[in-house]
Amino acid sequence: MEGPRDPDLGSLLAAARGSYRRTFGADPKIAASAPGRVNLIGEHTDYNQGFVLPMALRMYTVIVGSPREDKIISIVTTAEEAEDPKKVQFPVPGEGLVLKPGEPRWANYVKGVVQHYKAGPLPGFNAVITSSVPLGAGLSSSASLEVATYTFLQQLCPDDRDPVAKALVCQKAEHTFAMMPCGIMDQFISVMGTEGHALLLDCRSLETCLVPLADPNVLVLITNSNVRHTLTGSEYPTRRHQCEEAAKVLGKPSLREATMTDLEKVKGLLSEEVYRRARHVIGEIERTTRAVEALKSRDYQTFGQLMVESHNSLRDDYEVSCPELDELVSAAMEIPEVYGSRMTGGGFGGCTVTLLESGAAEKVLRHIKEKYSGKATFYFSTPSGGAKAHPLP
Ligand code: ADP
Ligand code: MG
Repeated sequence: MEGPRDPDLGSLLAAARGSYRRTFGADPKIAASAPGRVNLIGEHTDYNQGFVLPMALRMYTVIVGSPREDKIISIVTTAEEAEDPKKVQFPVPGEGLVLKPGEPRWANYVKGVVQHYKAGPLPGFNAVITSSVPLGAGLSSSASLEVATYTFLQQLCPDDRDPVAKALVCQKAEHTFAMMPCGIMDQFISVMGTEGHALLLDCRSLETCLVPLADPNVLVLITNSNVRHTLTGSEYPTRRHQCEEAAKVLGKPSLREATMTDLEKVKGLLSEEVYRRARHVIGEIERTTRAVEALKSRDYQTFGQLMVESHNSLRDDYEVSCPELDELVSAAMEIPEVYGSRMTGGGFGGCTVTLLESGAAEKVLRHIKEKYSGKATFYFSTPSGGAKAHPLP
């Protein structure tokens, strides 16, 4: 059987297997991985039925494990950032037994997928989770955990292998067990990511289109601000509600159906803030379709310009940036070989994504390090493939 082509994934699997042996005293029989992601453009558009353009990263959540005779699920995470306890046991749902979210919170992502998994009956199992996706950095460690879990369960108890249904079950787990009313992007890209390609996803029709991104002359740089501002926690649901409110006033099912001209016509009926939220979303959906055309024709200048416009709109209209992300984007844009840079993910901290000429990598890192008031972490990544099962010897 072919081993993983990605050296990072290989060492991650080896670490997970070692940890499993130490915890459960035997070798695991099955393994699965699912990548984190970075969104190149199309931010806060997914729950507005719009377009997004993520790519899967060479950062993965890995789960290794084995079925057990009883109906108990025992899972361990090796993630230091996950809250204690790091080992959790719960029963296999079914026959009137329904799992509920609880403590520790990290286990809810696994529990949610187990609860909503379509095929059955599932056996009990032991499993260890290891990840190279930083937790809570906006690179979607949560979706990679859900999708890795689902891919693991597919080996324990095969389902119909429908990738869309798979992503939707993982999203449902996040909604109902992690209580995060997220869109569909993160789970989709973690399931459907493809080597050397970004993925254009139409969040209304759920249609996808691969866009090649394998030019050795350009690099995607992810810069982690290493800050995460915990605000009231209601920012995300509030933005969602504001978008719904704007769509309602526009008489549209979602902001996807609205144009800037439509929006200008109802401006007087919206609060100034709701108007700006809608302006971001409508503009961002348009920018994303233009960015795809630019990427297809390797017009990185235009792509980069759209990234910066996206950032400015997220900062000024959607108000989900923060001084650290603004600083990182400004620093990157001071280098002429940088095409574009923007915050990525939900906002209020986390990461920026930057497109640059390959030759300027060192120079860009040096400059950002010098200019950024905090301590940044950098990752370069080419687009990786999606979730996989890994046959073990
Ligand atoms: P992001 O998805 O951007 O990384 P989220 O807040 O959506 O941020 O998800 C992070 C949460 O997901 C963590 O706090 C933890 O509860 C859970 N999680 C992700 N990866 C792991 C892991 N390897 N082990 C345990 N929990 C994890
Ligand atoms: Mg997440």
